[in-house]
Amino acid sequence: MEQRPLWSGAEAAPAKAPTTRGSRAVRTSGVKSRRELSEPAAAATVRAEVSTPVLASIAVGRPVRGEFTYTLPDELAGRLEPGQRVLVPFGRGTALGFYLGPASPPTGEKVRLKAVQRVLEDSPSLPKDLIALLRFAAVHYRYPLGEVIRGALPPGLSKAVEEKEARPDVQHFAVALVNEVPPELSRAPAQSAALAYLLAVGGSAPLEEVAHAIPGARETLKKLATRGFARLEEKTVEASVKEGLIQGRPDHLTPEQDAAGGVLRAALDAATFQPFLLHGVTGSGKTEVYLRAAEHALSLGKGSLILVPEIALTPQLVGRFRSRFGAEVAVLHSALKDRERLFHWQALRRGDVKIAVGVRSAVFAPVDNLGLIVVDEEHDPSFKQEEKLRYQARDLAVVRGKQAGAVVVLGSATPALETLENVKRGRYQLLELKHRVDDRPMPTIELVDLRVERPREGVVTEEAPILSPPLLEAMAETIGRGQQVILFLNRRGHSTVLLCEVCGLSLKCSECDVCLTHHRSQNRVVCHYCGLAMPVPEQCLECTGPMLKLGIGTERVEAEVLERIPTARVARLDRDSASSAERLTEMLASFARRELDVLVGTQMVAKGHDFPGVTLVCVVMADTSLSIPDFRAAERTFHLLTQVSGRAGRGKDPGRVLVQTYNPDAEPVRRVLAHDFDGFANQELEWRKALAYPPYSRMAAVRLEGEHPEQTASVARSLGNIVSRHMPPASAGVRMLGPALAPISRIRGKTRWQLLLKGPTHTALAPLLARLEAALVDVPSAVKVVIDVDPGAML
Ligand code: ADP
Ligand code: ZN
Repeated sequence: MEQRPLWSGAEAAPAKAPTTRGSRAVRTSGVKSRRELSEPAAAATVRAEVSTPVLASIAVGRPVRGEFTYTLPDELAGRLEPGQRVLVPFGRGTALGFYLGPASPPTGEKVRLKAVQRVLEDSPSLPKDLIALLRFAAVHYRYPLGEVIRGALPPGLSKAVEEKEARPDVQHFAVALVNEVPPELSRAPAQSAALAYLLAVGGSAPLEEVAHAIPGARETLKKLATRGFARLEEKTVEASVKEGLIQGRPDHLTPEQDAAGGVLRAALDAATFQPFLLHGVTGSGKTEVYLRAAEHALSLGKGSLILVPEIALTPQLVGRFRSRFGAEVAVLHSALKDRERLFHWQALRRGDVKIAVGVRSAVFAPVDNLGLIVVDEEHDPSFKQEEKLRYQARDLAVVRGKQAGAVVVLGSATPALETLENVKRGRYQLLELKHRVDDRPMPTIELVDLRVERPREGVVTEEAPILSPPLLEAMAETIGRGQQVILFLNRRGHSTVLLCEVCGLSLKCSECDVCLTHHRSQNRVVCHYCGLAMPVPEQCLECTGPMLKLGIGTERVEAEVLERIPTARVARLDRDSASSAERLTEMLASFARRELDVLVGTQMVAKGHDFPGVTLVCVVMADTSLSIPDFRAAERTFHLLTQVSGRAGRGKDPGRVLVQTYNPDAEPVRRVLAHDFDGFANQELEWRKALAYPPYSRMAAVRLEGEHPEQTASVARSLGNIVSRHMPPASAGVRMLGPALAPISRIRGKTRWQLLLKGPTHTALAPLLARLEAALVDVPSAVKVVIDVDPGAML
């Protein structure tokens, strides 16, 4: 049994705290530890001291719960500011600490406190409003505060060292001096390609990046420079992220944009916390509303924080912010190098840069004098972090806005039901954009019933075809008109199930409870959960029977398009093909330049892309996500179908959407066909209410993972018993579901169990969660248990 920390008081202790013996830091709050209670000698020492020392509350950057009390040496007393990084003795060594403020003397038995050793910086890395947010996150999501703070900081600041000011590297840039590829370059394909690339990514890019995308581009760009089409310059770059297409500032807003903008301006002027839902149909110009709000905030000297689901998938939004605000924008994404991260942090902290655009972790960006927070595509599941501190960035954005007195805008064409309910309860104000920009029509959405429109008729191929006659016809027609097509299927690979024709056994991963997917391009079968890969078996591993390849993936769709429409220029966009941010951007840019006719892809094609050439969107199979055992499956299906449909008809030509399905009567499918968000939402909310699912309850998941199936099951049951024993009276409305094997019962060889708690409020669940957390001290280390508050995926 591993050793437990000394502070494992009854109320809270992490399952896997490191051994930190011998430290005399005591918790600022909470019950006394065993050690504290058994050390009268230490108490005597304190009483013998003459003057009362100045006490400091410190969050220690180690996986231990609570805040700790240290003394401040004379030279530091009165000189520290909350948020400053310090070095403190901890256990047998030293640790990074964060000064949070003065502490009152520990009550009860006295112990001799240790002193803060050193201050690591002159001014606090952490602004005050951020400390408040991080404290909230630590309590709400039940994660050690020191770890929460460390996780929010850029790598340079999360170590126990003094950090000098970061200087960004000098990079060589190419800047386009024209707005389109000029005709005189028509006989210089290399030069037009390099210039086209520059234009596609926002007009300027590091040489390194262009050369990476287009081999030999360094020389080509020099030629372009001597011909006056581009300029080469040295600049310090804050980020190497690619930018989207250049977008000018439209002269006129639509009446709806104007109205929403007016409300937001007034809210920004009032400088108080005001949360909004900006519900705007796809193509209604939500981004322009964000941009104007950020402009107004800037004119008031205030900072803005813009959260987006995934930078690489939203180059256009990033590009619009960059082209509007230039150097005022810091782009925070997951591929940043450590130094760039530190540079951005410091620039924002100083207030030199006032706008941060970033992914979920940017909710912790130290934007100075924060006036505006935008969460774009607020329904997107990627705002939930699924490891360590399991936070929901959209929810924290609202908390941060409240603490900072800022305006918060949650934007989406398909708001999460949680957000919608907050509007219904009057907590958030609703702003609507019901029409597309320039009164462009919404796309028409038609159903293709696969039970009637059989794709297999008249075609002889090895595998049953999947593109029905109406789909193929519409595609050929669209491509013939010189317009573009998006084909959506939310599964990657070629076939998703390999099944023995004789014994019926499907090929499963040896480590996970999932089927292996056949990737024809790699000539392997691959597990999408653990990455295990092996050669494609010729025959059933059990009975040597022949294998059937069932279940379609994007790779097969791509192959079928190529086979049926050989002249089409096709690319596939999924995690296999877009393995890097560069590849992804390249593919999106090339589609935007209309070098491709068809883009086949997973939910990556459903994000906020704005391709005016796309007039046809085909959903290959609308049913795939309906059967997932998750209470949000219908909502997620509705979101995906609506979002991908919204990619059609954004330019001057109207759009058309074809939805293939075997389940035309499924609620989300029916409602998407009718463009009926409200109908879907109301129906789904009713169902959620009847079953007391969020937004009509709060949930917490206790997830277990263990080497040994028996042991894991027994720990799950004993945690279940603890919950049962401490369950409040039925009138409190708290329920436990499980413990039960998780829907995916094994991943990477570990057995998975889960236990779900549902209650009317988070407060109703908190005492049970505290009990569980306390019980984790006794869980054997072979079983990993995490508490996931407000869980996202249920698998
Ligand atoms: P949404 O995010 O609501 O789907 P976007 O913000 O991508 O929509 O806007 C759709 C398109 O309309 C974009 O190409 C954008 O540049 C353009 N657009 C937005 N507002 C205006 C406007 N007021 N006038 C002209 N074009 C606009
Ligand atoms: Zn696996």
